[in-house]
Amino acid sequence: MKKIVFITLFLSFLKVEAQSIHYNLRMPKPQNHYFEVEMVLTDFKEKQIDLKLPVWAPGSYLVREFSKNINLVKAYDQKGNLMELDKKTKNSWSLKINGEKKIVVKYEVYAFELSVRTSFLDLSHGFVSGSGVFMYAESYQNNKGTLDIFPYSTFAKITTALPKSLVPEKIGGVEKFTFEDYDQLVDCPIEIGNQVVFDFMASGVKHTVAMYGEGNYDIPSLKTDMTKIIEAETAVFGENPNKEYVFIVHNVVDGQGGLEHKNSTTLSVNRWTYATPKNIDFLNLVAHEYFHLWNVKRIRPIELGPFDYSQENYTTLLWVMEGFTSYYDELILRRTGHYSQEEFLSKLQSSINYVEGSVGARVQPVAHASFDAWVKAYRPTENSSNTSMTYYSRGSILAAIFDVMIINNSKGKEGLDAFLKHLYTKFHKGLNRGFSDIEFKVELEKFVGKDLTDFYKKYINGTEILPYAEIFDKVGLTVKDLTSFSPSFGATCRQEGGNVIVKSIRAGSCAEDAGLSVGDEIVGCNSYRVDQGMLDGMINSLTIGETAELLVARDENLFSVKIRMTNYRKPAFKFEKQTNSKYETEYNYWLR
Ligand SMILES: [Zn+2]
Repeated sequence: MKKIVFITLFLSFLKVEAQSIHYNLRMPKPQNHYFEVEMVLTDFKEKQIDLKLPVWAPGSYLVREFSKNINLVKAYDQKGNLMELDKKTKNSWSLKINGEKKIVVKYEVYAFELSVRTSFLDLSHGFVSGSGVFMYAESYQNNKGTLDIFPYSTFAKITTALPKSLVPEKIGGVEKFTFEDYDQLVDCPIEIGNQVVFDFMASGVKHTVAMYGEGNYDIPSLKTDMTKIIEAETAVFGENPNKEYVFIVHNVVDGQGGLEHKNSTTLSVNRWTYATPKNIDFLNLVAHEYFHLWNVKRIRPIELGPFDYSQENYTTLLWVMEGFTSYYDELILRRTGHYSQEEFLSKLQSSINYVEGSVGARVQPVAHASFDAWVKAYRPTENSSNTSMTYYSRGSILAAIFDVMIINNSKGKEGLDAFLKHLYTKFHKGLNRGFSDIEFKVELEKFVGKDLTDFYKKYINGTEILPYAEIFDKVGLTVKDLTSFSPSFGATCRQEGGNVIVKSIRAGSCAEDAGLSVGDEIVGCNSYRVDQGMLDGMINSLTIGETAELLVARDENLFSVKIRMTNYRKPAFKFEKQTNSKYETEYNYWLR
């Protein structure tokens, strides 16, 4: 008797105290591209809470102002009476609570931007990128919650990494999901429609693939190739932390890449990409996004989690998060046999020449490129190549260099894998947090076996050309410096209809000196009317010091400019394998 009373009291205590958050997601009329959202708040005792919509989607470092798509935000009490809800900022609403036990906040979300980081709805399917759809209650992001999805009548499937509710009965097509906290809710994109779904086991993890859109993919070979990649990446870290993992693939005309999540990813690819030789482009994307489930979702800078959804989250370490991941998306394809050693080295060499050949590489240090991703990398302009370094490519080259340094320091016993596994074990599993810039450097120094202060100064916080010859010699590669000087115009032009339009101007080039600007139309050269081919021919025949007169149209004005051809120094490097190198063991370990 006593026991029963106690249990009853205990249960009622739990029921009264726990606030609950529940969402209903509906899409009754997909042709208008609106998701209808209900956020049901129960047992909130405060006088006032703030409801917010994120301004960005983690993994994509741009303030996207998702609230621009939100309409008709209203709050109701349990009797259906309208409650006081004031808009506070561009993305937040203040809700006054006066003892209401249950509050339903309703709004609609315009979803007509199909990308891996935004949401979309039409009669063919729905895609939910949660941070643009689900509001959160400020200070309650750590609360558990539930989500019911009511698919449109012709949509038969829902694919997401969100856990299914323990009572997953389907009533009228409704599917019930749960989430541990707001981070998990918005870290699990949702595909709703009639996608082709298949699954396979790899590294003890059940992998589900949802294919939206037709494509020339072959499911059996995808299963084989993706399994190899997953197993090779799991081997880097020694374990795969997920029980299940979901790939949502959008097969469309303009593929846009992927976005990583803890136990899922969304990939956007050209629907015919699967015919490329050995399906490399798709597998490269798979290798990249899957590697992120460790590197950035679990191994991460301290600034990238818990996320502040209301503003930019700055880090100087995207060159590690994106750059190292880019290095591994190639290295893993080497390890799975999709690339030969020569193909892998050729890719790395191209990446080096691309980075060192860009003007921006001498202007923006890679750490600054990372920090400023929000306003530079994600907001490119016609001048970006003159001012910006890509932290993807420069970061992947730095990963190769650190890999070689660690291999050399350990005499071919371990490489960058061991360092990443160490970060995963120490910070994610041990401390359950990210690391600071300093902590990252200190741990890296232990593995490369030397102080990196000067290296950081020159190549990470500075823009010097990396010491390729010295470094790659340690794995038996000679790096030939093929830096060349050649006449260069310095303007990139494109034929648009009958017009030749200037698209970019290299800083310091003769095109800039002559007074050409982006957007100018080049009408003629040396008294001849020109098209793109003719202009190229005439300009390319000029030697150093020779001049040409261009007739230019700008804002309906015609004028002429005189260009005087100048030399352009273009750094370039070439790998050559040394014969009888004393570093044969290191070479073979690296490119195994
Ligand atoms: Zn990435």
